[in-house]
Amino acid sequence: AREGYIERTKTVCTYCGVGCSFDIWTKGRHILKVEPQQGAANGISTCVKGKFGWDYVNSEDRLTSPLIREGDHFREASWDEALDYVARRMTEIKDRHGPDALSFVASSKCTNEEAFLVQKFARQVIGTNNVDNCSRYCQSPATVGLVRTVGYGGDSGTIKDLEQADLVIGIGTNTAESHPVLATRLKRAQKLGRQKIVVVDLREHELARRADLFLQPRPATDFIWLSAVSRYILDHGLEAGEFLAARVDGLAEYRASLEPYTLEYAAQATGWSVETLKNLAEMIASHQRVCIMWAMGVTQQCGGSETSTAISNLLLVTGNYGRPGTGAYPLRGHNNVQGTSDMGAMPDQVSGYQRVTDPEVVARMQAEWGITLRPDRGLDNTQMIDAAIEGRLKAMWLTGEEMSLTDADVNHLIRGYESLELFVVQDLYFTNTARYADVIFPATPSLEKEGTFTSTERRIQRLYQVMEPLPGCKPDWQIYQAVAQRMGAQGWDYTHPGDIMDEVARVSPMFAGVSYSRLEGYDTLCWPVAEDGTDTPLLYTEEFHFQGGKARLWPAEYVAPVNVPDAEYDLQLNSGRMLEHFHEGNMTFRVPGIAAKTPDAFVEISPELAAERGVETGSWVRVVSKNGAVRLRALVTERVSGKQIYIPMNSRELEGSVNLLTGQNRDTITHTPAYKDTAVRLEVL
Ligand code: SF4
Repeated sequence: AREGYIERTKTVCTYCGVGCSFDIWTKGRHILKVEPQQGAANGISTCVKGKFGWDYVNSEDRLTSPLIREGDHFREASWDEALDYVARRMTEIKDRHGPDALSFVASSKCTNEEAFLVQKFARQVIGTNNVDNCSRYCQSPATVGLVRTVGYGGDSGTIKDLEQADLVIGIGTNTAESHPVLATRLKRAQKLGRQKIVVVDLREHELARRADLFLQPRPATDFIWLSAVSRYILDHGLEAGEFLAARVDGLAEYRASLEPYTLEYAAQATGWSVETLKNLAEMIASHQRVCIMWAMGVTQQCGGSETSTAISNLLLVTGNYGRPGTGAYPLRGHNNVQGTSDMGAMPDQVSGYQRVTDPEVVARMQAEWGITLRPDRGLDNTQMIDAAIEGRLKAMWLTGEEMSLTDADVNHLIRGYESLELFVVQDLYFTNTARYADVIFPATPSLEKEGTFTSTERRIQRLYQVMEPLPGCKPDWQIYQAVAQRMGAQGWDYTHPGDIMDEVARVSPMFAGVSYSRLEGYDTLCWPVAEDGTDTPLLYTEEFHFQGGKARLWPAEYVAPVNVPDAEYDLQLNSGRMLEHFHEGNMTFRVPGIAAKTPDAFVEISPELAAERGVETGSWVRVVSKNGAVRLRALVTERVSGKQIYIPMNSRELEGSVNLLTGQNRDTITHTPAYKDTAVRLEVL
């Protein structure tokens, strides 16, 4: 920004998967206003975070110099010294222990270009597939469910399709707080009489209150009711017969797998009546255009992948793919969590979901990067921590992720950090995670860098640099490039993020037609993008993403929860987002207006439980699990019922973090922590 001038720059909101675009007016580093134009996802709307949540960029807490650990303290270092130090230590560890002793984690705070470089660094410079990103904590199970059944792991259509649906079902998603502009668009469609909304959730959040039908199942029973509804539809001839015959394989085997899932069994499991389940099945079958959206209430369970598969199976049985107003919507929590996986920050795939075992992919990357890809699967985030504790992993470079507040079982995580020989953290602030680092690089937020983000709609959008990096800070892509150059790597001479996107397009058929010139201003592209620039807002109109073009009904299996309430830990703990905060809250707690409105974490307790235990709103309580304890103030509310309690995931300090309570149970396929699989007890202080 030119000093003294008022400037207006187009950017993209980083805060949730809706991916609102807007202009930001600035004078120097002062943000004057946020002005939505005609963003592809948001039109002229934003929510409170997008409109007012930016002052964190000028927080006095910003790191402005690299820091190197010396014993119990950190000292400031020049960029040259810190970059040399990391390059030297990484080389030493690689030489001594081999490339698989090192690991790399990208986050949704990275642009697409930065996430691409994180995995390029791991694979080309180091020679390991130990690379992952923050979707491991949220929507990886949804990706499994979709890849099994329809081929691509992303949302099958756009927000416009959700708006056009006759029936939208939200399962385990607090959409009004986690994807506010999307919820507003749905509520408008409902008010205009075009749409019915069904919400299935443990907690009565705002969208649940406004739904045409709100159902509260017992915890971890979504798989059972979804399977029972599918079975009822098939048994009563309510399925989309022509669609199934023409476009779907595997019906007989799938039908056989549904045998145990009678309405009576589902009624017993969920606590609903048989009549309710029958009505729900008939409602789904009788609507022409049905969308199902889901989020962490489904995926952060031991059976998250299996339940996501059951959702996609139900959509196939009812023919709800490939037409406007239909499809599967695993809502991505952040804007750019979709892009971070798209760019190959995953242990088994390079950019564009290309498997490291595919000979064509190996040849392509060899031509571009001059190395042979390793054919083995690397460690994912949760395995990295286990491997560090076991002494197999010696180094981790963590980019923009506050794992100490967001990963489950924080005490286990900290043991992992403390076991590392080299822990590099790249962030805006001295975070809870940075306390355990050996080197901390001061990074830049989205307003201080160029690049692209990809929203939950698979929509790629440009963000332009709104202001210069705070003196002393660098964008993630420049930091990775500087270390790669010091380690003698070839092909690390990018002058602008657009150069990186050109490389992405060269090596990834899914992004063949993506270029900065096609993404100027408010122009967007939904992947896959053909070489001529044709994009794909709605998937599966002609064929599914499998050889032969047919979808596959997948006989999934119920996975029971492990950590269920018992005599000692008698309550069920649930957790999730708050409207005002982004993720763990490191950025939004540094926005004075938001911090004043939501100063502390709290625990929601039902009126019945509060009466039984003598708790009032404002009482101090201790919540205790097998893994740890937190002290919080109580909020008595009808949003939660019976013996379920709820703690927001954001916290200013580690001491108030819900993840001191969560444990080691994980989704059986993806290892996503089963945050919702936590039993606790309440102690009144
Ligand atoms: Fe839009 Fe989500 Fe940002 Fe709100 S948080 S402005 S809904 S992208």
